[in-house]
Amino acid sequence: MTVDKLIRREILGITPYVPGKPIEEVQRELGLQEVVKLASNENPLGPSPRAVEAATAALADTHLYPDGNCYLLKEALAAELGVKPEEIIVGNGCDEVIKLVAEAFFRPGDEVIVADPTFGEYAYATQLMGARLVKVKGEDLGHDLDKMAAAVTARTKAIFVCNPNNPTGTMNTRAEMEAFIARIPPEVLIIVDQAYYEYVEDAAYPNGIEFKGDGRVLTLRTFSKIYGLAGLRVGYGVGDPDLIAYLNRVREPFNVNRVGQVAAVAALADREHVARSLEMNRRGMEQIGRGLTNLGLTYTPSVANFILFSTPYLATQVFEEMMKRGVIVRPAHIFGLPWQIRVTIGTEEQNAKFLTVLEEVLAVLEKEV
Ligand SMILES: *Cc1c(COP(=O)(O)O)cnc(C)c1O
Repeated sequence: MTVDKLIRREILGITPYVPGKPIEEVQRELGLQEVVKLASNENPLGPSPRAVEAATAALADTHLYPDGNCYLLKEALAAELGVKPEEIIVGNGCDEVIKLVAEAFFRPGDEVIVADPTFGEYAYATQLMGARLVKVKGEDLGHDLDKMAAAVTARTKAIFVCNPNNPTGTMNTRAEMEAFIARIPPEVLIIVDQAYYEYVEDAAYPNGIEFKGDGRVLTLRTFSKIYGLAGLRVGYGVGDPDLIAYLNRVREPFNVNRVGQVAAVAALADREHVARSLEMNRRGMEQIGRGLTNLGLTYTPSVANFILFSTPYLATQVFEEMMKRGVIVRPAHIFGLPWQIRVTIGTEEQNAKFLTVLEEVLAVLEKEV
């Protein structure tokens, strides 16, 4: 007997997630000293020093289980966001919260609507539960909320709105979101993923938490991006207490580690670090935008900490050549965009190296054809 006969059919469509290459692996494989990683939208400034200090201190208590209720972190978040602690669920990254939504709500036969292209975790969680993914292509690679609303059927269980969208960096305005939510039948969940919320400076950008009164809107945020704690895995969802209570039923008791919890509390309080990160991103976005234009490349204007650009060559080819020269980017073929690359905004020096290497690689590939 083989395990082939035992496997749950629902998961056969899932392909394992291929993460951005770790710096250490590229250094090892290519014998490179200096490697710049601009592939996973991490904060190039690193974590808040105050978060590191808190995390270091917490290591001494590693023999103890973490607080399964994330009491202090929820108190801090509640105060920061102007919500009640029972309106918050904390996860081992926002990724876990997405999975909890699926485990609590999705069944075979359910339809789940997402944009195309968008963040891959929604498809994963949907397939995991045997529900059906409905992809809706928008104009200019963003979310077409009208088209997404029109895709709702009697079987629709949930809609994911990634705002700003990964990998495009496009956003939907408050007015668009309000009109959209008003159109969606009350028995459909709406998950608003705001992983890059803190980066967006456009006045028309909505705070998803304002929609929680609707009862079925869950807003997702994370400590992995502007707060620089991707390695500690802390993300959260904010919504109606009843919705949160259902998610808590499927949550593992100690899902968020002790070090992550205290680091997140400290990171939240370090407003200066957030402000510096934002300022660096603003300048870096300009620098990369200008550089891409100078190279004759087009890109999608982004409100987040990454930018999606087109290349005249297959993205995987450009990616390989860039990696050989010590710069790791994200080829967007994984999002169904074979001619595009997503690059994270880095430090001024990292951005400069990215542009130099990209120019060099484009010249090399041009000679080959
Ligand atoms: C990075 C990212 C997340 C995941 O965040 P974690 O908290 O690290 O799991 C969620 N949604 C989007 C759109 C992201 O880009």
